Amino acid sequence: MVYISTRGGSSAGAAEAVLRGIAADGGLFVDPSLGQERFDWQRCLTQDALGIQTMLLKHLLPDIGGMDKLVRRAYDGKFETADLTPLVRVGDDYVLELFRGPTAAFKDVALSMLPQLVTAARAQRGEEGECVVLTATSGDTGKAALEGFHDVAGTRIFVFFPHGGVSAIQRAQMVTQEGKNVTVCAVRGNFDDCQTGVKQAFAALAGDGELCRRGVSLSSANSINIGRLAPQLGYYFIAYAGLLREGRITLGDPVDFVVPTGNFGDILAGWMAKRLGLPVGRLVCASNANRVLTDFFATGVYDRRRDFYRTDSPSMDILVSSNLERLLFYVSGGDCALVRACMEQLSREGFYRFPEELMAKLREEFSAFCCTDAEGAETIGALWRGEGYLCDPHTAVAVRAAQAYRRGRTGSAPIVILSTASPYKFPAAVLGAIGGSAEGDEYAQMDALASLTGVPVPHSLAALREKAVLHRDVIGIGDMIPYIKTKLSEGKT
Ligand SMILES: *Cc1c(COP(=O)(O)O)cnc(C)c1O
Repeated sequence: MVYISTRGGSSAGAAEAVLRGIAADGGLFVDPSLGQERFDWQRCLTQDALGIQTMLLKHLLPDIGGMDKLVRRAYDGKFETADLTPLVRVGDDYVLELFRGPTAAFKDVALSMLPQLVTAARAQRGEEGECVVLTATSGDTGKAALEGFHDVAGTRIFVFFPHGGVSAIQRAQMVTQEGKNVTVCAVRGNFDDCQTGVKQAFAALAGDGELCRRGVSLSSANSINIGRLAPQLGYYFIAYAGLLREGRITLGDPVDFVVPTGNFGDILAGWMAKRLGLPVGRLVCASNANRVLTDFFATGVYDRRRDFYRTDSPSMDILVSSNLERLLFYVSGGDCALVRACMEQLSREGFYRFPEELMAKLREEFSAFCCTDAEGAETIGALWRGEGYLCDPHTAVAVRAAQAYRRGRTGSAPIVILSTASPYKFPAAVLGAIGGSAEGDEYAQMDALASLTGVPVPHSLAALREKAVLHRDVIGIGDMIPYIKTKLSEGKT
């Protein structure tokens, strides 16, 4: 199987695609034959969570060997429950809790796996130089990537987060990270600035003479990396298998999924699962006030020329949703020239219009809704009072979208809402929403939330207050490339 760039300019085997992260022409790696090679999705549904991950990853990344062992190493003992992502009934719907891993956000499912994939791919390709993982984060990817990559031999990880643009707990998780191979740095800008900076660093450093001499290669922990995206298909299978076991559906029945969306990775994984045969019904894209995707599905125009809002769901404060590029590739039947033209127009002029006949195809599979912080807070409060279920502000955006979707739909498939973070990562917003008072620092707020609700605080978050701050750098948007270069030359042995 060969991965190609969405923009047509390059190709790579799966192992190489994982190591490169992004294609040399700026496009994202995709398997053009996704869904055409047979995948035994029915057998996959009979496996336990690790078995599901193993089958999926063998299929998606066939040239990485020893997958059973890699999967066990990635997940054994690291998650609160053996099924990785428990499915919880809440009212008429189901909530799939993706935040039961080491950093209390859904990114753990993929980022526990990625270092294993990178290490195996390096060994297989005989790469001996250092693999430098560049990561832009809207809050959660950073910590999950640090957790996965710290002290992994042969790797070095950089994380850039928007200064003042993540929650206090998210920041504390990152700046207290230990490990000899980690660099964590705040950037005076928003997530899109960080992500653009990382993409530019790839281009600038790829041809850097000194790094080439030292055999340094670059990779990414963002969902632009197929190795980050592939493990995310698993939870759609895990959810479907759970509904089967419960007798809520019979094999083949459709299930609708509502996904709180930022970079479009999570929801795209659902669409890919559907291509592999899983009976996914509708995929509902839920956005906060940064409603660029809601508008795109409504109008066919992707337009980032708009105000950027810092919201209570910071991990979704994104105006350039990178993985949408992969969806455009697939829905256009692999029209790389069209994708390239759209992406170039987006970077040059800030918008593009996607052809109406292709939008019609997209609307057959996707719905999109958005809500404000006030509506999200109201939803957290109502869910807590009505169902006794405490959700975080990102999940609340999806719960709200699920309600809007249910009102307008004709079908009656079960609705699964993906819950992407623990409420304890955002204690101030959650306290405010359920009528508590958010006084004191983030730790006092966690305590207040726990005593008000009785919901236990995840161990990894409770332990944060004991940890020393180890990373204090703050840089400008334009300084990312020189910063990376300096750090890399300091680290030279
Ligand atoms: C990353 C993240 C999202 C958005 O996921 P994408 O794959 O970027 O669309 C939503 N919620 C939380 C809590 C996240 O960390």
